Amino acid sequence: MEKKMLEIQEKIKNNIRLSREDGLYLYNSGDLLDLGELARWKKFQVSGRNVFFNVNRHINLTNICVSRCKFCAFGVDENGKGGPYLMSVDEAFDYGAAAVDYGITEFHIVSALHPHMPFDYYVDIVRRLHETFPDIHIQAFTAVEIFYFSQISGLSIREVLSALKAVGLGSMPGGGAEVFNDDIRQKLCPRKAMSDEWLEVHRIAHELGIKTNCTMLYGHIETIEDRINHFIRLRNLEDETPGFQAFIPLPFLPENTSLSHISRTSAIDDLKTIAISRLMLDNIDHIKAFWIMLGLPIAQIALDFGADDIDGTVVEERIMHAAGAPTEKGISKEKIIKLIKESGYIPTERDTLYKVIRAY
Ligand code: SF4
Repeated sequence: MEKKMLEIQEKIKNNIRLSREDGLYLYNSGDLLDLGELARWKKFQVSGRNVFFNVNRHINLTNICVSRCKFCAFGVDENGKGGPYLMSVDEAFDYGAAAVDYGITEFHIVSALHPHMPFDYYVDIVRRLHETFPDIHIQAFTAVEIFYFSQISGLSIREVLSALKAVGLGSMPGGGAEVFNDDIRQKLCPRKAMSDEWLEVHRIAHELGIKTNCTMLYGHIETIEDRINHFIRLRNLEDETPGFQAFIPLPFLPENTSLSHISRTSAIDDLKTIAISRLMLDNIDHIKAFWIMLGLPIAQIALDFGADDIDGTVVEERIMHAAGAPTEKGISKEKIIKLIKESGYIPTERDTLYKVIRAY
């Protein structure tokens, strides 16, 4: 091991926080296998040999979007190509209800920014699902959506979140963080929440007792410095206002986007990003290898690079698949269990808030 790597190892074993420079070193010079070993050690401190998964139903209410981010293959114009759709409240309810017999423990609702639907539409969907299925956790609406609801309703972010919590919102997903560099956001997604706004929504959610996740979209036009800065801003927010449950690195999938000239990230980059996020985000317990975007083979290897969660057996997912995710739209619980066992870990089904339902 190089001297710098030994210093970093020493810090990790003594629970000393890694610096910006350490993070940059790990990306630029760190040996992949040394890095994996450190991240795996850190993961064992947090969750032992458990690897978590949950069983959820993704409900994507609409793909009609006013934002039209350059990296997105899901959002379309209202009257444009790409099969614009919008679920009614009844359709969304029926779509969620149809998965209940499958044994789901979570409705996972994420959508585009629809130009006309009022905030009440979203409140009604959460209320109906929660009233009928009170035991199924509702994880819904990214910070970008919450910020948009505030704009279309005239309510403050706190009022929007409180209204949703009152009708059954249990927690928030982590999407829309992209990368915290507003110059990049101005180029790629100028019409939606900027970095400070995204962080502010999560800060308020945490203050209201709403747990959230966080993400980073990487492998587009950002630099390694941007990635490290992103980790540090998430880490700082978690220090100030705790509430992040899991970090989910999302590799950019260029297919069907207006950035299709950019190559897909390499396996090395994906594994380094998982491992470095585990080491830099020392105050966020769970690092998720989101198999839908990473692909099952890399997600499986990521379990040896610091990831302790492999997301759900998702009953159907549209957003990543619009961008050409080559994975199945949902896989069975049996397949997830087999995949985790093959890696030498204990498949552990969890609910949304990481309460263990059953270890296999
Ligand atoms: S990433 Fe979200 S906000 Fe941006 S175009 Fe896609 S659906 Fe709309």
